[in-house]
Amino acid sequence: GTALEGRVALVTGASRGLGAAYARALHAEGAHVVIADVRDEDGTALAAELAPRAWYRHLDVTDEDGWSALVDEVVRSLGAVDVLVNNAGIANAAPIEHYTRAKWDAVIAVNLTGTFLGCRAVSVPMKAAGGGSIINISSVEGMRGSVGLHGYTAAKFGVRGLTKSLAVELGPSGIRVNSVHPGLILTDMTARIDPARLDIPLGRPGTPEDVAGTIVFLAGDSSRFTSGDEFVVDGGMIT
Ligand code: NAD
Repeated sequence: GTALEGRVALVTGASRGLGAAYARALHAEGAHVVIADVRDEDGTALAAELAPRAWYRHLDVTDEDGWSALVDEVVRSLGAVDVLVNNAGIANAAPIEHYTRAKWDAVIAVNLTGTFLGCRAVSVPMKAAGGGSIINISSVEGMRGSVGLHGYTAAKFGVRGLTKSLAVELGPSGIRVNSVHPGLILTDMTARIDPARLDIPLGRPGTPEDVAGTIVFLAGDSSRFTSGDEFVVDGGMIT
């Protein structure tokens, strides 16, 4: 496709899993993709595969200076950040009495603070360019509670809320902000979850490609009147 020709899309946590599928799908629609992750080997290989319309850059999403350096470089060399997908995330699970401060701090730092830093970093160039699309990856765990996921649930509800305040504030600048809430998708993160335990009306767990279409939709002009909204992609699981 050509829906995103000439656009620049930055995807965090894109070295593997869902983020890699998002990068591939945005690239397939013509975008130049910036794969930002801490997994250098996988990210470099993916960028080489998608070259020349792809870069890999090392970015820890919790690193404030790393964000400004990367966004500056992208704007200087590629002209703009048209699309930001805040996808980097980690999951920590434990019963509450064993949920250590370290687990809590880590999951909040990557999933919530990392998303905030990304939104803030692109807001200035997006305003200057007259618009953009920010896609924040939450989860079905940002819509309900689940045993053991305490910090993850808090972070994913937080991402959903942050999306609302940004959509209201940045809308007048032409910037759209939406959240995506995947259900059970088979990746390294979920390798230990047994899909048979979950009641999924469509009868199977998802693949990263099952979610990528929603990301492409939200990145491009087909969703031009959509902002501050929540997109659950879960095979009917939390219906
Ligand atoms: P994954 O573990 O396969 O991939 C996550 C990627 O994020 C990895 O490449 C990792 O290196 C990167 N990452 C981790 N910490 C980082 C940091 N500080 N800075 C930069 N990159 C970092 O996980 P996934 O299943 O592909 O999940 C991707 C996103 O989707 C996460 O936000 C996750 O919470 C969310 N999600 C996943 C599912 C699922 O079922 N897999 C469901 C709902 C939401």
